[in-house]
Amino acid sequence: MSISLLPLPYADTALEPAISATTLQTHHGKHHKAYVDKTNAAIEGSDLAGKSLEEIVAAAEAKADKGLFNNSAQVWNHGFYWHSLSPEAQTPAGDLAAAIDASFGSFDALKTELATQGAAHFASGWVWLVAKGGKLSVEQTHDAATFSSVGGIPLLIIDLWEHAYYIDYKNLRPDYLKQVIEGRLNWTFAAENLSRGSVWAYPA
Ligand code: FE
Repeated sequence: MSISLLPLPYADTALEPAISATTLQTHHGKHHKAYVDKTNAAIEGSDLAGKSLEEIVAAAEAKADKGLFNNSAQVWNHGFYWHSLSPEAQTPAGDLAAAIDASFGSFDALKTELATQGAAHFASGWVWLVAKGGKLSVEQTHDAATFSSVGGIPLLIIDLWEHAYYIDYKNLRPDYLKQVIEGRLNWTFAAENLSRGSVWAYPA
């Protein structure tokens, strides 16, 4: 069994105007698909064929197979990113809201931290909300680095690669971050990750 291109969990117009259909079609149908295709080509006929994506990422990391790691980790990051986005504006509730207040002081302070770290990140990478060591934190990773680098339980992720925003915002990454953080983050998904207490599994 090969790794699948996870379907978008909403229509490609659903995130407009924050993220255009053109961006989603390219980002999912070209970029994410290319990572899936390269991962499948690399594992075909090997002992990794039929393994879960998380096992493939771990094996690639263990044997320092940078090509397989980069492609398989990017498959995971993009699947997690599609689920981290929501067509409707949401606000955190329940245990997640309490954890945000305890760790950042307020939801507004968390949003500012995501925007600040996301804008300051140099070159390609990701900004994450993570539950780790009994609290929540905002973390950054470079290039394809994934859940194994951030540690803890990832709750949400935002893509900082230029392909995530360049069609809609040109070079203005802070404008993309503002639109996503203010109105397109899936706090229900974040709460599910927090309450499960284990790393999200990319669907087989
Ligand atoms: Fe991307």
